[in-house]
Amino acid sequence: MRIGIIGAGQLGQMLGHAAGDLKMSCEFLDPSDAPPAADSGPVIRAAFDDEEALRQLAANCDVLTYEFENVPVAALQKLGAAVPIYPPPAALKHAQDRLLEKQLFGELDIPLPGYHAIESRSDLDAAINKLGLPLVIKTRRLGYDGKGQFVLNKAEDADTAWQALGGSDLIAEQWVAFDYEVSVIGVRNVDGDTAIYPLSQNEHRNGILYCSRAPLDAPQLAELAASYMTRLLQHLDYVGVLALELFVVGDSLLANEFAPRVHNSGHWTIEGSETSQFANHLLAICNQAPGSTAMKGHAGMLNLIGSIPPAARAQRVGNLHDYGKAPREGRKLGHITVVADSATDRDALLAQVTKTVTESTHPNGHET
Ligand code: AMP
Repeated sequence: MRIGIIGAGQLGQMLGHAAGDLKMSCEFLDPSDAPPAADSGPVIRAAFDDEEALRQLAANCDVLTYEFENVPVAALQKLGAAVPIYPPPAALKHAQDRLLEKQLFGELDIPLPGYHAIESRSDLDAAINKLGLPLVIKTRRLGYDGKGQFVLNKAEDADTAWQALGGSDLIAEQWVAFDYEVSVIGVRNVDGDTAIYPLSQNEHRNGILYCSRAPLDAPQLAELAASYMTRLLQHLDYVGVLALELFVVGDSLLANEFAPRVHNSGHWTIEGSETSQFANHLLAICNQAPGSTAMKGHAGMLNLIGSIPPAARAQRVGNLHDYGKAPREGRKLGHITVVADSATDRDALLAQVTKTVTESTHPNGHET
């Protein structure tokens, strides 16, 4: 099988490595000069909406997928039935617009924070009246890693929020004083066979994922998250890996967002699971049976953001993944995974790695 992957960043790179293990080949489409996934197959250098380049990729491959959420849906739809495209573009359309995404959660009875769509300055006042403060104002489209967001604590700051974000379609969300954040990753193949990974507990810093730990020892929450995941997979007639991020408040879960692709909070599956999310995505889009999502131990993952300090390379704990990207503040450059026999041992390893990395990294991401 030859897999066409739109986007050749680190997610494409890890898909490419999994494809190699499965004896599949990959070809990518990406506009950048030296994308990480270039180590796994040829890259067509073109914009994501370049119809001729997309047609070329489709002609070269048996199935198309994407590792990047902002691929224009219209460009994919123009490819027609030339080649199967998974996950289905309808899932992508919902994930690209926070309003559609929230409406879908509502339709499927998946609880979520209160929200209000904002198109004008007066809508912002209406949101404050309806939802109270604090609120988080987000752009409906093209936001990621906390970008395009404004936390509104006082009504007096509404003008500032409007100046910062007005001009795009926005959405206001109730600020959730969550206990912690989790994500669930599911996979479904063309025949509808499904598998779901154990819950991952995630810590974000400045809106960017910092570290993940799995499995979370909370069976009731895991069951609830799996039921929400199943509803989404079935409703969307989904094929591939789907990630759902949730806030934990007491015994309940509130959906934040979903990503129709392999996800950073599942990177620990490479070493921590019987089958990685990357292998399972490829198996699903080729309509093969999902591999086991059982854990090999207790896994933890630390993202390397802004720089990979030499001390992080030199230390011998866990597995370092270097995406080969140029250092830049706030940029995800790699990650380290640890796996241990117990949660306590996993947390000790994660603490050790975190200490090494943070002690050699300046708070703004540069090496010290
Ligand atoms: P997002 O880009 O929407 O996933 O937001 C990035 C991160 O910001 C989330 O993982 C949370 O840590 C935080 N966040 C986003 N929305 C909310 C909210 N409504 N309440 C509290 N924290 C939030």
